[in-house]
Amino acid sequence: MSPVTVVTGGSRGIGAATVRQLAHAGHHIAFCYRTDTTAADTVLRDIHPTGVRAIAVQADTTDPEQVDALFTAATTQLGDITGLVNNAGTTSPVGPLVNLTITDLRRVIDVNLVGYILCAQQAARRMTTGGAIVNVSSAAATLGSPGEYIHYAAVKAATDTLTIGLAKELGPRQIRVNTVSPGTIWTDIHTISGVPDRPARIAEKVPLGRAGEADEIAAAIVWLLSDAASYTTGATLRVAGGL
Ligand code: NAP
Repeated sequence: MSPVTVVTGGSRGIGAATVRQLAHAGHHIAFCYRTDTTAADTVLRDIHPTGVRAIAVQADTTDPEQVDALFTAATTQLGDITGLVNNAGTTSPVGPLVNLTITDLRRVIDVNLVGYILCAQQAARRMTTGGAIVNVSSAAATLGSPGEYIHYAAVKAATDTLTIGLAKELGPRQIRVNTVSPGTIWTDIHTISGVPDRPARIAEKVPLGRAGEADEIAAAIVWLLSDAASYTTGATLRVAGGL
């Protein structure tokens, strides 16, 4: 039986790279996005030649009803869910913590933590024969991101704890839960932070001398979802060029 995997935020960046690699690995895929239907359609078109079944669902992961609709669409159209990639995330303009607005704070918590928990609940309820969940966190969780986005780093640390607890809670049901912690990766998320060229700027601080590519994160996610990782749960796989 082919795996059936839900990827949140699969229309762009790390999520889109993950959808493409999962399709080549034979996963049927339901991915969601929030606004960019054109980008979602492009990903669907790209993976069509692989022959897997795939759907793109417009669903905001912070809304419990839309999350329920995403997982219901995945189950009814593709079959029982065996995988979840909690990836849809956001940040806010860089700056010191004292300048952070309550709107930006609440949004970062809502998307990066509440959304992950809502999707994990749906997956845990629906994975009846085991499965695997990957939470996309950030190296920021241990670096703290001073002067940039401490609130984002703190929320990503909460993601890491979500993995630890869920791995223990779901292990007896043969559901593995792991974290991938990317360093700075070339995606559009840096436009939201107001520093689109951030990956170029941080290169000299990274031991490997460069920012990463979305495909380098996707490869780690695909491995953690695969049978090759059958005894790996509760782990954090840092993919950050040495940072
Ligand atoms: P990105 O390029 O900005 O893409 C974000 C994706 O998530 C898009 O498909 C977007 O869809 C979707 N999305 C955003 N909010 C959503 C919501 N509320 N509901 C549903 N979908 C939503 O981001 P990325 O850089 O690939 O980041 C992916 C993950 O990696 C995030 O969790 C991020 O925190 C983490 N990460 C990224 C980096 C980095 O340097 N890029 C580093 C560490 C960790 P729309 O376009 O339709 O809104």
